[in-house]
Amino acid sequence: MSSLECDVLIIGGGIAGLSLASALAPFSSVVLVEAEPTLGYHTSSRSARQLIPSYGPEPVLDLTRRTLELLGGVQSSTGLPLTVPRSFLLVGSEADVDARAGAAMHRISHAEALDLCPQLRPEAFAAAAIDTDCVGTDTDLLLEYHRRSASDDGVIILTGAHVTEARYDGSSWSVRAGYRPITAEVVVDAAGAWADGVAALCGVAPQGLVPLRRTAAIVAADNAPQAGSPMVAAADDSFYYRPDADGVLISPAESEPAEAGDPQPHPGDVERLIERLGTVTTLGITAVHRSWTGLRTQRESTVPVVGFDPGHPGFFWLAGQGGYGFQTSSGIAELAAVLLTGADPADLGADPHSVLAAAAALRPA
Ligand SMILES: Cc1cc2nc3c(=O)[nH]c(=O)nc-3n(C[C@H](O)[C@H](O)[C@H](O)COP(=O)(O)OP(=O)(O)OC[C@H]3O[C@@H](n4cnc5c(N)ncnc54)[C@H](O)[C@@H]3O)c2cc1C
Repeated sequence: MSSLECDVLIIGGGIAGLSLASALAPFSSVVLVEAEPTLGYHTSSRSARQLIPSYGPEPVLDLTRRTLELLGGVQSSTGLPLTVPRSFLLVGSEADVDARAGAAMHRISHAEALDLCPQLRPEAFAAAAIDTDCVGTDTDLLLEYHRRSASDDGVIILTGAHVTEARYDGSSWSVRAGYRPITAEVVVDAAGAWADGVAALCGVAPQGLVPLRRTAAIVAADNAPQAGSPMVAAADDSFYYRPDADGVLISPAESEPAEAGDPQPHPGDVERLIERLGTVTTLGITAVHRSWTGLRTQRESTVPVVGFDPGHPGFFWLAGQGGYGFQTSSGIAELAAVLLTGADPADLGADPHSVLAAAAALRPA
């Protein structure tokens, strides 16, 4: 089979790889390879679909704000309904809410919280804080938007193309993806839970990325919150729920270390969550429509890792997005495109100071 040649080979067809492909396409020749037969099969199809500008460490907050700006621009130029307003309400003890609520959240009274979320049992929480700048996002539409805009700009996207070999000769990579040989000047590691494994394949030292299990389910409930109601999360990370077009989305909000793979819910996890929600809400859950588990992969610092590897000039990290992969996606793709092409951030409409600050904060170790 003939070899494909490109400037940049992106490994991974989740939100990280696809958003970079669409940002980079106007400047470079790009091939994106995905091991699975479909794009977005792993973590990117298993999220809670919420973008929360007050959630995460400082660099993540900045990248989330930038992502919301960029998605707002796409939404107004294309008319695609990529986001809808949906606030985020944190509830718990005074101490837990104080510890978890970021500076961008504001405290509201117990009565105001009950007014917004009448399914909460009054005795189940003492304090509440809200972020009203959040949005829900249609992740399928967003993935498809990036796929299409990348393809329209000439990116070659191969599915069922598992990268199993990669060799660097000092100036370019020879990679095997499925049966396809590919040569590229730069390899971008956007392999999610497999990112450290892909680095090892390329002879690059790992970044200490740990996949963490998180389960969610869509359930039917007698007393479901109305569409447009806030997402509600416990400040001690013991549950969250929000209205969904198909019922109510619920999660035990666990973070349990796991191997890279295709995880499934542990037996009993969703049942235990439903029991817990029965003690803190009046949702009245009657049935489970579907449940799933995904892997939120992160470094110990919880800050994503984006940039050229310090020990390998041809290897670029785009990993460790943890629980922030959608909310930071466009901001991170813009940053990565600047670093990969050497473009002036201002030419892309980005603020050069913010880009420099993000590049320093997300630099590989
Ligand atoms: C329950 C849950 C709720 C979440 N909620 C939110 C939320 O509300 N908001 C938010 O912003 N984020 C949320 N997240 C996190 C978000 O989903 C992730 O950060 C994001 O999807 C990660 O995207 P990714 O592209 O890095 O990884 P993935 O989507 O996993 O993509 C990586 C891809 O790389 C491919 N790959 C791996 N190795 C190879 C190889 N050798 N060759 C070829 N391809 C390879 C894999 O097949 C995979 O498709 C949530 C996650 C979970 C699990």
